[in-house]
Amino acid sequence: MLKYALLGFIAASALAQNSPSRGVGPVAPPPPPETHYVLRCGTVIDGVTIQPRHNADIIVDSNKITEIRASGSAPANAQMVDLSRETCLPGLIDVHTHVLLQGDIIVDYDEQLLKESTAYRAIRATVSARNALQFGFTSIRDLETEGAGYADVDLRNAIDRGIVPGPHMQVATRALNVTGAYALLGYNWEDEWPHGVEVCDGAEGCRKAVREQISHGADWIKVYADQRTWLEGNVLHSRPTFTLEELRAIVDEAHRERHRVAAHASGMEGVHNAVEAGVDTVEHGTYIAPEDIQQMVAKQTWFVPTPWLAYYRAEQFPQQAQRMQAGMKVAEDTFRRAMTAGVKMAYGTDVGAFEWTITPAMQFPTMVKYGMTPMQAIQAATARAAELLNWRERLGSIEPGKLADIVAVSSDPLSDISALEHVDFVMKDGTIYRRP
Ligand SMILES: [Zn+2]
Repeated sequence: MLKYALLGFIAASALAQNSPSRGVGPVAPPPPPETHYVLRCGTVIDGVTIQPRHNADIIVDSNKITEIRASGSAPANAQMVDLSRETCLPGLIDVHTHVLLQGDIIVDYDEQLLKESTAYRAIRATVSARNALQFGFTSIRDLETEGAGYADVDLRNAIDRGIVPGPHMQVATRALNVTGAYALLGYNWEDEWPHGVEVCDGAEGCRKAVREQISHGADWIKVYADQRTWLEGNVLHSRPTFTLEELRAIVDEAHRERHRVAAHASGMEGVHNAVEAGVDTVEHGTYIAPEDIQQMVAKQTWFVPTPWLAYYRAEQFPQQAQRMQAGMKVAEDTFRRAMTAGVKMAYGTDVGAFEWTITPAMQFPTMVKYGMTPMQAIQAATARAAELLNWRERLGSIEPGKLADIVAVSSDPLSDISALEHVDFVMKDGTIYRRP
């Protein structure tokens, strides 16, 4: 929270420095809105209470929600936005994105690293961020740049300073993996090739990498805990990357510096090491052993399953669909067991692995199919996701005092969750970015 407040301070300083009186001129970011809005909503799902509220007005002053009340007369100085045929919800949150990756199914991963400069990739990332906002995702946690250095820090700062539109962002910068475990791999050994991660080995080497990433602006440290998965019966195995000693050093170093750790872990062995080392969030978790699920409950470790991507890949590569079925079944079983056990779960999609022209809301129906109620799925992408980000005091729900991050859809997401794929009103920080 303190860090976020500090960011606000930095953003305010940047605004002051860029004011026209200092000679910067027409590209200076716009001042914060001094507007008063009444959003007249047919239905309000606030992200917290189970029962939606009908015919309610949300009062927005500048960038904050000040009141939710029964629809009635609007204050004289307020602009009315008629959403009386819509359902209003808190801005959606995706806690596993890659703004600097452009769907490596479509444009080959190696090609993005070999042929595109970081500047070019950063320009594309501004479009990813704008798309996220247009789709109704007003906050994201971006989990590594895939070889584009610290460009995510620059994008986060540019958005916070009002230079380009985009969601509130927390970023992980370069991610960590061991020697020989992460693309680019397989090129001639005589030359040095770029990597999609920062390579570190040994506890001390990895502590240094954590320090370096935090000093360059990382909010999170992302580690790859495993690679190379394979199925044996209903268990997905994986080959661990880091030793437990190395993982523990990474977690210790990050926590000592008041930062948290997100671990990519798909199979049993990788998840086990990540949980044992004390990471804060487990990403993907296609298979999690029952003992590790118990550990995650005990340690309050977050689980961010990303199940929709497999369906998309199966659709893109029909010849592999049959083979992928077994893995998808394992993922569904893990999802259900984690839910039943009470593991904390939040909404993350891995968008960037699929194209940014596709809304990350595509995953909601899969989560409902796997056993969440529509309301649970919505809360996983609002209040629960905000809790994962440690931003719960500021956003994630439609309540007085929260940031005015509000979206709306024209049909009822509680009867058909796919309604969230068609967000037609977006407000972030009290500014309207999309209207029906
Ligand atoms: Zn990812």
